[in-house]
Amino acid sequence: MTNKKILLCLAHMSGQEQHFIKEAFDSNWVVPLGPNVDGFEQDLESFLASDKYVSVLSSGTAALHLAMVLAGVEAGDEVICQSFTFAASANPIVYQGALPVFVDSEPDTWNISPQLLKEAIEDRIKTTGHKPKAIVLVHLYGMPAKIDEIMEIANSYDIPVIEDAAEAMGSEYDGKKCGTFGKYGIFSFNGNKMITTSGGGALICPSAEDKKRATFYATQAREPFPFYQHEKIGYNYRMSNICAGIGRGQMTIIDKHIEHHRHLADLYCRLFHNTPGVSVHINPAWKHSSNYWLTTITIDSDITGTDNASVCQHLQSKGIESRFLWKPLHLQPVFKDSPRYVNGVSESLFNKGLCLPSGPCVSDEDVEMIAEEIKLCIRN
Ligand SMILES: *Cc1c(COP(=O)(O)O)cnc(C)c1O
Repeated sequence: MTNKKILLCLAHMSGQEQHFIKEAFDSNWVVPLGPNVDGFEQDLESFLASDKYVSVLSSGTAALHLAMVLAGVEAGDEVICQSFTFAASANPIVYQGALPVFVDSEPDTWNISPQLLKEAIEDRIKTTGHKPKAIVLVHLYGMPAKIDEIMEIANSYDIPVIEDAAEAMGSEYDGKKCGTFGKYGIFSFNGNKMITTSGGGALICPSAEDKKRATFYATQAREPFPFYQHEKIGYNYRMSNICAGIGRGQMTIIDKHIEHHRHLADLYCRLFHNTPGVSVHINPAWKHSSNYWLTTITIDSDITGTDNASVCQHLQSKGIESRFLWKPLHLQPVFKDSPRYVNGVSESLFNKGLCLPSGPCVSDEDVEMIAEEIKLCIRN
C-alpha cells in the first residue's frame, strides 16, 4: 500500500501551456484580450465542429450569466432549471432577479425529465399566465441529456435552451458535441473540469452577432465612442490572455484526456460487473456518448448492507477521494421558496451515489485498487 493520495479529478498540463504564456509575456499581452484569447476561441470553435461562435470568459458561471442576459431574462421572469446540478447552474438566474423553477431528473441519464419539463411549462403558464423565459439544461457528470425530447418540447413552446455543458466538454449526442444544441451553451475551465485555464469559461453562441454582444457585455458594455460611453450595464467577465494561453496548451491534449476518462469508466464497469448492489452510471443508449468526466456509481444499501457515506469514509481512510453526488437544488435551503416539479429521482440518486476518481492523473492500477477497496468495504 502506497501513501499516494488519489484525487477526484486533478488538472493535468500538456507542457505547451508555458509556451503560450511566455509568448504573452514576451509580447506584453498581459491583458484580457490578445492573441491567446483569439487563438483559444478558434481552437474551441474547431473543436465543436459546428457553425457556432465562442466567447471565452472568466468562468462558467459568468458564461451562464451572460447567456441569461442575451436570452433577455429580466427581473420577475421565471427560468426552468434542472434541479440535479451544481448551484452555479441556477445562481445566474437569481443574479438577473428572476425566479428559478426546478425540474427533477429521469433515471436513464440523471438529467432533466422531458415529461416533467412539459408538465412544469404547462403548469407555469397556467399559474402565472407567462411561459418561462429560458430552460437551463445540464449534462451532469458529462452524460448527455435526452436532447431530442427536450429540444422538441422547448421548440414547441418557443423557449430558448441554455445548455450547461460545464462538465460535458467533448461529450456527444447523436454524433454532435454537447454545448451546440441549445440557443446558448457554456463550458467551464475550472481546475477540476475536463480542461482548465486555472479558472475560466466559454459561451457558445449561435451567431457572430451574438458573440459580439457577449464580448461587449463581458468588457463593461463600452459603446464605440472616442470617450467612455455606456448605454447598458456591463460586466468584467472577459478571459485574460494568460489564462487563454493555458487553454491553448490544454487543447493540444483534450482528445487524449477524454479518451482516458472514457477508458477509466470502462474499466470501472468491468471491475464492478459482478458486484451486486453497485452500478456504474453508463450511456443509456447509442445516441449518448458521455465524456465520463467523473465516473459515478450508485450503491444500493439494501443489497450491499453498506451505504455511500460509509464507502466514502472507507475510501478516505485509504487516501482515496470520492464525493457525494450534487445535492438537488430543490433541497437546498437557499432555494427553498422556488417552485419545483419533482419525482424523487434526484433525491434517491443523491442518497446512494458517489463520484469516483477519474481523469489523466488516475491510472489503471489506481482504479483496480479503488474497486477492490469498495468491494472490501461492502463485504464487511
Ligand atoms: C463547474 C460548473 C459550473 C460553473 O463553472 P465555473 O467555471 O466554476 O464558474 C456550472 N455548472 C456546472 C454543472 C458545473 O459543474
